[in-house]
Amino acid sequence: MKSHTRVVVIGGGVVGCSVLYHLTKAGWRDVVLVERDQLTSGSTWHAAGGFHTLNGDPNVAKLQGYTIGLYDELEKISGQSCGLHRSGGLMLADTNERMEWLKMAHARARYLGLETELMSGKEARKLFPLLEDKYFVGAMLDAADGNLDPSGTTHAYAKSAKIAGAEIYLQTRVTDLQPRPDGSWDVITDKGNIRAEHVVNCGGLWAREVGRMVGLELPVLAMEHMYLVTEDMPEVVAFNKETGHELPHAIDFKAEIYMRQERSGMVLGTYEKACVPWQPRATPWDFGTELLPPDLDRIAPSLEVGFQHFPAMAKAGIKRVINGPFTFSPDGNPLVGPVQGLRNFWCACAVMAGFSQGGGVGLALSQWMVSGDPGFDVWAMDIARFGEWATRSYTNEKVRENYARRFSIRFPNEELPAARPQQTTPLYDLYLAQGAVMGDSWGMETPLWFAPKGVEPKDVVSFHRSNDFPHVRAECLGVRNGVGVTEVANFAKYEFTGPGAESYLSRLMTNRMPRKGRIILTPMLNEAGKLIGDFTIAKAADDRFLMWGSSQAQKYHMRWFESQLPADGSVRIRRYDMAMIGLSIAGPKSREVLQRLTDEDVSAAAFKFLDHKVMDIANVPAIINRVTYTGDLGYEIWVAPEYQRRLYQEIMAAGKDLGIVNFGMRALLSLRLEKNFPTWYRELRPIYGPFEAALDRFVDLAKNDFIGRDAAMKEKESGGKLRRVSMVVEAGDADVLGDEPIWHDGKVVGWVTSGGYAHYVDKSLAQGYVPKEFAADTGAGSFEIEILGERRHASIITQPPFDPEAKRMRM
Ligand SMILES: Cc1cc2nc3c(=O)[nH]c(=O)nc-3n(C[C@H](O)[C@H](O)[C@H](O)COP(=O)(O)OP(=O)(O)OC[C@H]3O[C@@H](n4cnc5c(N)ncnc54)[C@H](O)[C@@H]3O)c2cc1C
Repeated sequence: MKSHTRVVVIGGGVVGCSVLYHLTKAGWRDVVLVERDQLTSGSTWHAAGGFHTLNGDPNVAKLQGYTIGLYDELEKISGQSCGLHRSGGLMLADTNERMEWLKMAHARARYLGLETELMSGKEARKLFPLLEDKYFVGAMLDAADGNLDPSGTTHAYAKSAKIAGAEIYLQTRVTDLQPRPDGSWDVITDKGNIRAEHVVNCGGLWAREVGRMVGLELPVLAMEHMYLVTEDMPEVVAFNKETGHELPHAIDFKAEIYMRQERSGMVLGTYEKACVPWQPRATPWDFGTELLPPDLDRIAPSLEVGFQHFPAMAKAGIKRVINGPFTFSPDGNPLVGPVQGLRNFWCACAVMAGFSQGGGVGLALSQWMVSGDPGFDVWAMDIARFGEWATRSYTNEKVRENYARRFSIRFPNEELPAARPQQTTPLYDLYLAQGAVMGDSWGMETPLWFAPKGVEPKDVVSFHRSNDFPHVRAECLGVRNGVGVTEVANFAKYEFTGPGAESYLSRLMTNRMPRKGRIILTPMLNEAGKLIGDFTIAKAADDRFLMWGSSQAQKYHMRWFESQLPADGSVRIRRYDMAMIGLSIAGPKSREVLQRLTDEDVSAAAFKFLDHKVMDIANVPAIINRVTYTGDLGYEIWVAPEYQRRLYQEIMAAGKDLGIVNFGMRALLSLRLEKNFPTWYRELRPIYGPFEAALDRFVDLAKNDFIGRDAAMKEKESGGKLRRVSMVVEAGDADVLGDEPIWHDGKVVGWVTSGGYAHYVDKSLAQGYVPKEFAADTGAGSFEIEILGERRHASIITQPPFDPEAKRMRM
C-alpha cells in the first residue's frame, strides 16, 4: 500500500470506480481507491441495472446521457463486458395529466438532443404486448433506455482506471480521517495510513459514517427497495421469437412499477407508498453482501394494479425477490462536490441511479478536482444546495416523501408537504391568518399568494393557469397602482468587513464597488467567465460591505468566497441567515408609506434610487435599500427578526388608507417578468456568460482585474454564442414554466428558462436563450414555443413591457 498519494477515493461501488477512472482520464494517475470489502459490495451488486436519460433537471439529464454513452468506451478500454442491453424504454401514462407531463418531457428532450417519441396506448402495446392498452392514454418511448450488468460495469470502470495507473486496495477499511495544516489528509485504515492531498467520499451506504469522520452529517438516507424476478414467461419468449429483439423497459406510473426483460422472464420493481428507510441512524460496518427480508405485503397495492395492467405478470411464477438498500438525498439527486468549510474533501454520495448517473458524476467531480470547475452546470446535484436545516430527521421525512413520489407528477405549482413548516419568520401566523398560501424556500416558509376572504387558501395543482391566477393578478395591480408589502426574508445576506474587503470584492465582482451609502448590482464570474452569482452590494463604511443574493446559493457562494479569501486575514465574512430579515414595500405610493413612518427626509431628492441608508422606521432600527425586484419605486427594509412583526404591522397601518396590499412570491416573479429582469438559477447559471445573459451594464472591464475578466473580454469581442431574450407568447390557458424548446423556421434553436403571466401588462411572457444570430429576428411571431405539446407563436421584445425607460424605479 502506498504511504502518499494525490487522491484517496473511499468506496468501490460503481460511483467510486467511476470517480477513479475519470480522475485518471483527466490526467491524475497517482490515485488510489480503498474498499472495505470487495468492489460492488455496498448497494451496487444487487442493483437492477436499469439506465435512462430522463431527469427533472435538464443538466442532470445531459450527464445521464453522457453516462449511457460511456459504456462502449469502457468496454473497449477494459476488455470487460458491461452486459449492455439497449432495449429502449416506454413510459406509460394512465391519465391526461400524466400525458401532459410526457408531452413536456418530450418537448424538453428535443433541445437536449434526446430521441423520444409519443404514441397512443395501442401503439405502445405493439412494442410491449404484455400491457392492456385500455388502462393507458398514451406513452413515450425513449430510445436510450436499457440495462446492464452492475458488477461487470463496475469492474469495467475499475480495470480502465488501473490500466491508466490507479491502484485499488480491497479489504481495507478507512476508519478515520485527520486533516493536516497544509490541507492534506491522513487517511487512517485498518491496514495502515495513507497521506493524501484529496479525499473523496464515495461511501454509498456508509457515506454518512465517512462524513461523520470529518464532522459532517450528510443529508443521505438508505431506503429498502424491492424487485421481483419471474420465471420464464411464454409471452416473453413468443415476443422475442417474433420480433428478434427484447422487450423494452416499461414504467407504469399508476402502479408505481418498472419492468424489464431478464433472460426469458421479467424484472418488476416498485417505488411503493409504504416505503421503509433502512438503518436511519447508522449503517453497521459488518453489513455485507446480504439481502434484506422481502415484504411482499408492502408492495401488494402496486402489484395489484400492475397485475391488472399486465395480466401475464399475474400468471408468472416468481423466481426471486430482491430487497436491498440504496441511498437518496432529500430531493433524490446526488450530493457532489467540495464541502464548504473543509479543504480538499469531496463528496460523490446519494447517487440513487448509479448506472444512469455514475459516469456523469465521475466526470464532473474529476474535472472539478483537477481544474477547479466541474465543466458543466451541476447545481441540481451540488452538495451545497442543502443548508444546515437539512438535519437527519428532515432528511428522513423528505427522502420517504421523495421515494414514495418517484413515479408521481410534480405539478409546477405544487408544494410538497413533508418536513414543513420547518423555519418560519415572526410573520408566519399573521400571514396564515390573512389567507397566505405558503411555499418552501431553502427550508423556510414563504408566502406565495394571498387568498381573499371566502377563498380557500390552497393551490389547485395544474400545468395550466390555476386558481391563484385572479388573486396574484390583484396583488400585482395593487402594487403597480398603489403600494404593496412583501416579505423578502429568504434572501441570502452577507457582511464583508476588514481593510481588504473592498479590493477583495472588487476582484470577485464584475462591477465597480459603490460609493459609501450607495448600492450596485453585480454579477460574479468563475475563471472561465461564466456566471456564478448575481448580487446587490451596499457600501456601509470604508471597511464594511453588505451583500444580498440568492438564498438557495448561500453555501455554494460561501464555498467560493472562502476559497478566495486572502491569507492575511484582512477580510472577514459573515452569513447573516435569519439574523437579518426583511420587508419590501413597492409601488408608486411606497414613498408615502415610508415617510409616514420616519422623520427622516425620504423625498426623491434625499433618498435616491440605489441609495443605502440606516434609519429608524416606526421605532425600529433598520437598513434600507432603495431598490426592489418589482422594478417599481420601492424599498427593501432589513431588520433584526425581533423587530419584524412590529415593522410589518406599522407598515400595514400606515398604508391602510392608501390601499396597501400583501403580495407574495408569485406576484413578485410576475412583476419582475414585465421588467425583463433575470433570476438566479433560471436565466443566470454557470453555463452562460454575462454578455450572453445581457448583463452588459453590470460588467466594467476597465475597472480592475477581476476573476473571469479575460474570458469576459473575449466574450465581449466575439459576442458569445447565445443571447438571453424576452418574448411575448401567444399562449392559451397555460404559460411557459421553463425548459420548453424554442422553435424558429421549423427547427428547435433554443430553450425557455422561465416565464409566466405578467398581469399588469396583460401578456404571457417568457425568457430564454437562443443563438445570438436569432436574437435579431424581432418579427412578430417569428418564433414558436412548445407548451404542453402545442407550438405557440412568440415574438422577441427588446424593451421591458412595463416602464421601458425605468422612470418608476427612479421617480
Ligand atoms: C434493489 C436495488 C435495485 C437497484 N436498481 C437500480 C437500477 O436499476 N439502476 C440504477 O442505476 N441503480 C439502481 N440501484 C441503485 C444503485 O445500486 C446505486 O445507485 C449505486 O449502487 C450507488 O453506488 P455507490 O458507489 O454510490 O454506493 P455503494 O454501492 O454502496 O458503494 C459504496 C462502497 O463504499 C465502500 N465503503 C464505505 N465506507 C468505506 C470505508 N470507510 N472504507 C472503505 N470502503 C468503504 C463500501 O464497502 C461500498 O462498496 C438499485 C439499488 C438496489 C438496492
